[in-house]
Amino acid sequence: MNRLRLSRGLIVVIIILIAAFHCFWILRLYQQEREALRMETDVLFRDVVYKLQLLRFKNDTTLFKHGEPNNLFALDVIIEIKHKVSDSLSLKKIDAAYKAALLKNSINLGYTLKCISGKAADTKLPVIKPDELKTNITFIGLSKSYAYQATFDAPFQYLLSKIKLPVLISFSLIASTIISFVFLYSNLLAQQRLASIKNEFISNITHELKTPIATVKVAIEALRDFNAIQDPVKTKEYLDISASEIQRLSLLVDKVLRLSMFENRQVELKKERFDLKALIEEVIVIMKLQVDKQNALVTLKTEGNNFIIEADRMHITSVLFNLLDNALKYNNKNPEIEIALKCHRMHIELKVKDNGIGIPAEYKRRIFEKLFRVPTDDVHNTNGYGLGLSYLKHIIQRHQGFIEVESELGKGSVFTANIPYKEMNEI
Ligand code: ADP
Repeated sequence: MNRLRLSRGLIVVIIILIAAFHCFWILRLYQQEREALRMETDVLFRDVVYKLQLLRFKNDTTLFKHGEPNNLFALDVIIEIKHKVSDSLSLKKIDAAYKAALLKNSINLGYTLKCISGKAADTKLPVIKPDELKTNITFIGLSKSYAYQATFDAPFQYLLSKIKLPVLISFSLIASTIISFVFLYSNLLAQQRLASIKNEFISNITHELKTPIATVKVAIEALRDFNAIQDPVKTKEYLDISASEIQRLSLLVDKVLRLSMFENRQVELKKERFDLKALIEEVIVIMKLQVDKQNALVTLKTEGNNFIIEADRMHITSVLFNLLDNALKYNNKNPEIEIALKCHRMHIELKVKDNGIGIPAEYKRRIFEKLFRVPTDDVHNTNGYGLGLSYLKHIIQRHQGFIEVESELGKGSVFTANIPYKEMNEI
């Protein structure tokens, strides 16, 4: 239990670490993209504003008539510009040019422009807060300062769309890590549960096996050593005891067969030809003691005349034991069990009908699941592990047949199994 808790703790810590690492990485990526966007928009803005200013110089002064002057900041140039050129640029023009420049660089973000003119532009340099996306203030004007700035709408969505691929990959990696860990952990839990039930099962069965063996041993010793063989009454008594104990042993062997259900490997089949009807009659004889003890009535009805199948005799015997055992076990009255065999062209239909407690509709499918038992308050019926029907279904399926159940609560159940005469691919 401690190891399980440790692995659960480790899994949780690892998942948290992986998720934290991814979040940190995405955050950095986001900040890098944001910084790149800030620089790009800033450079573009300055470029647009200066270009527009240059265009205005060209139009307004004679200096540019013979080409661009060598030095835009030479004194005579400045003086002419100061006197002839109007300093401000129209926001509309900047807006149109900036929009075009942004689109050319595939930046599709809304923004607002503002112009800070006069004294304010000379003195006030508003600080750009880190969570805002603004361009730097771009100054123009010689006689009078004009400053321009673009403030962008929240860039979160835009930036997210730029990094959506790594974000998607990150999230799917985290999700698949969580899913695989959960899957692993639930497998571990199931294995543990199975292992502990298996241990309990084995220790119970070993205990149960000892009793009939010991009893038969004592009966045989009594017959041999105490000359009981001379006493016909005693002899019959000892032989009856031995017979019933041997019968009990057969049922126990059937339980041992179910052990295979703890492993997930396939049951190996040893096929042979035998008469199913004769086998059922044999099983009824073996179970006679148990049947009599419960005042039960078992009848066998047949339809058709070919009951020879090619199948694994031992496992089919176990299937029959299971069906009869359940029909006797899940019954509060005197059990009446009808076994019906019907020949079809390719398969034999086996029906086992009882007048027992029935199965609630919601559990009808689940009773064939490994370790499933219908929940009940009846403490007397706790004898079982929920392995019989899953084993039975597995065996029937391995013979390429199928099994289904019809049941009415309080009235009884009918289990119907179809068993092919031979496997399809062998015909
Ligand atoms: P087990 O009998 O060991 O519990 P099974 O796999 O044989 O396991 O049966 C699973 C469950 O199906 C049982 O716990 C019982 O609730 C239900 N069940 C099986 N056979 C019958 C039946 N003939 N009548 C009513 N309920 C049944």
